[in-house]
Amino acid sequence: MNTAKASTASRDAGHFIAGSYVEGTGSRQPIFNPATGAVAKHVALATPDEVRRAVDSAQAAFPQWADTPPIRRARVLFKFLELMNRHRDELAHIITAEHGKVFTDAQGEVARGIDIVEFACGIPQLLKGDYTEQVSTGLDNWTLRQPLGVVAGITPFNFPVMVPMWMFPVAIAAGNTFVLKPSPTDPSPSLRIAELLLEAGLPEGVFNVVQGDKVAVDALLEHPDVKAVSFVGSTPIANYIYETGARHGKRVQALGGAKNHMVVMPDADIDQAVDALVGAGYGSAGERCMAISVAVLVGDVADRLLPRLIERTKALKVLDGENPAAEMGPIVTRAAHERISGYIALGEKEGAKLLVDGRGFQGAQAGANCGGGFWLGGTLFDHVTPDMRIYKEEIFGPVLGCVRVKDLKEAVDLINAHEFGNGVACFTRDGNVAREFSRRIQVGMVGINVPIPVPMAWHGFGGWKRSLFGDMHAYGEEGVRFYTRQKSIMQRWPESIGKGAEFAMPTAK
Ligand code: NAD
Repeated sequence: MNTAKASTASRDAGHFIAGSYVEGTGSRQPIFNPATGAVAKHVALATPDEVRRAVDSAQAAFPQWADTPPIRRARVLFKFLELMNRHRDELAHIITAEHGKVFTDAQGEVARGIDIVEFACGIPQLLKGDYTEQVSTGLDNWTLRQPLGVVAGITPFNFPVMVPMWMFPVAIAAGNTFVLKPSPTDPSPSLRIAELLLEAGLPEGVFNVVQGDKVAVDALLEHPDVKAVSFVGSTPIANYIYETGARHGKRVQALGGAKNHMVVMPDADIDQAVDALVGAGYGSAGERCMAISVAVLVGDVADRLLPRLIERTKALKVLDGENPAAEMGPIVTRAAHERISGYIALGEKEGAKLLVDGRGFQGAQAGANCGGGFWLGGTLFDHVTPDMRIYKEEIFGPVLGCVRVKDLKEAVDLINAHEFGNGVACFTRDGNVAREFSRRIQVGMVGINVPIPVPMAWHGFGGWKRSLFGDMHAYGEEGVRFYTRQKSIMQRWPESIGKGAEFAMPTAK
């Protein structure tokens, strides 16, 4: 057995600084197995001093890494890609153990992360500059992009492999060095990734991990050597990161929360729409920023769709994530379980019609030893209205609300009025409806008959409105732009220089 694997999976989660595992001296917090409710291990929360050490190590590694030719940086990533493919199931098991999501879903998460490494392997092509010969007589002008320095990533619990991989492959391919601050809820995958990067030949200090929460984040935000921060998480924290980072002179992209709608038009294939709603509403227990949490049922769709949706929601296979039959696993933490259960109670109080109540689900139904886990079944509401808090707020759990509208315009107006604009879907057979919907909707990622339209590695990920603070999306070419800055160079040689000083603004001659 691989010793690194044994150590990462079983030992407490510390930090990874300058190429070595560091236990950490700060306080520790328990990591639970959400399926059983048992404490599996502990995570060390970094002190400001430990964060400074990580930044110092990244800063020390930067000059040499930035000077390494892009093709040689890409070769390290090619080797890392090979290792990620070899260890993808091992990483998926670590995710399921700490997050609870179904193993096949965890495998999918790792695969989507690997896509970004493949994209980043093309960095020599992506960094190619623009050149104009003879912008003026005897004078050439070109632009190139250079890395920023130390960049930090602060990531959420729900994709402990994929979301960090939206960031660091592109950042380090572009010549930056990186400090990752993962969620303390499921911190172990980042440590395994750090080991694999080292094994791939990445120089020590280019990729560092510090565990922790607000204290560690603030230390990163305040450190003058951190030049840029990528954040993914909830909207209030995204807003805080954006403002605080900007105040400290950093470039920031902060991706926030969501409330994703799926419109079902009267001409949609109802079976396909039901499949999409159960998969995108309850997959990963609704703990995806691209999960569908609102079904917008147009015209007479509700009467045809709801009986089937109720049946499917009740029949969901809610099981231990390691069970191959599982469709949905547990909720990530006890606190999240309480928050989601509270929203279900609130929905009833607000007057929505509770069609399926997931609170009745007993952990023991999910598998042996699951009695103490954080279990909920799928929950379905009908007659949700825009004034209700269960409509306005992100619940981030397996709770799907149905809103009834009369036509496409009302559906589009409803969605455009929402504060979030991350993902959206429309199910229809009508090309013109699809076209109009895609054009008019004020949401960053649109799916036509695609319930979870997470863009591929070379297209970039990002929402609109309060789902993204900043302007650059994650990964893709916008990711490359985020992690580099443009420099323009104008050059001429003495033979092209005319005599005498010029006092007028120079123009092309
Ligand atoms: P979160 O906002 O609680 O935590 C995200 C990160 O911020 C973690 O690393 C956490 O340790 C840190 N953090 C938490 N509180 C902080 C504070 N007060 N000050 C500084 N840092 C703090 O989010 P979460 O619960 O881990 O993840 C779920 C949220 O992430 C949901 O809102 C979901 O929509 C969102 N999300 C968004 C996207 C996207 O691409 N837009 C993707 C995944 C998740």
